[in-house]
Amino acid sequence: MRRPMVAGNWKMHGTRASVVELTQGLGNLSLPSGVEVAVFPPSLFINQVIDGLEGKGISVGAQNSAVLPEQGALTGEVAPSQLAEVGCKYVLVGHSERRQVIGESDEVLNQKFAAAQQSGLTPVLCIGETLAEREAGETLEVVGRQLSSVIDVFGIKAFANAVIAYEPVWAIGTGLTASPQQAQDVHAAIRKQLAAKDAEVAEGVQLLYGGSVKAANAAELFGMPDIDGGLIGGASLNADEFGAICRAAGN
Ligand code: PEP
Repeated sequence: MRRPMVAGNWKMHGTRASVVELTQGLGNLSLPSGVEVAVFPPSLFINQVIDGLEGKGISVGAQNSAVLPEQGALTGEVAPSQLAEVGCKYVLVGHSERRQVIGESDEVLNQKFAAAQQSGLTPVLCIGETLAEREAGETLEVVGRQLSSVIDVFGIKAFANAVIAYEPVWAIGTGLTASPQQAQDVHAAIRKQLAAKDAEVAEGVQLLYGGSVKAANAAELFGMPDIDGGLIGGASLNADEFGAICRAAGN
């Protein structure tokens, strides 16, 4: 039985004051015990959030980490081992904003994925198609290729300690959401691709949907058989809204 998960990606948002307020708001939520809840603050605020959420049952992750596992000479980067040492559990790998705006390639993302696992972090691999790719009928091909790029290098067992987030690029931050059936179709295809290599890994891996999830649409999305929760951007910046999404995952 897979544990539902709701992850809040704060992106490049926050000030010291707003992070205190959001962290306090999260700490005051009554969250469903069966749901894994995690937040991904900007790296600058990770220590502050870990301290603020101590004992609250909310995990903390990073939005990015270095291609090398250990600390060293790599200016501007944060090593996954450093993130693990301060108490992070997860790291996002391959968010579409990093693929598209920063230009991270599958090769670089593979290095980050491996370095994260070597350091004891669980990578949350983000995959998804653009609007043009969906309109061209290429959704499953694109998502399958992004997934294969990791499986081909590290093998299927790499997904025994990873989470996958399907995030259609056209739904991220746009207010457009994939319909529950559209999302389910892609999630089922992802699980089938994994199952072709290892049924047990496929059955165990948490598949999150991301793309304009809010309290109003979460329950319907999370009710689909292969959707195990969500990766939430904008709506994760409001503690009450985020709490309602977490409760939807618990039902
Ligand atoms: C995201 O950034 O991963 C995301 C899904 O954003 P939003 O919920 O705002 O669409």
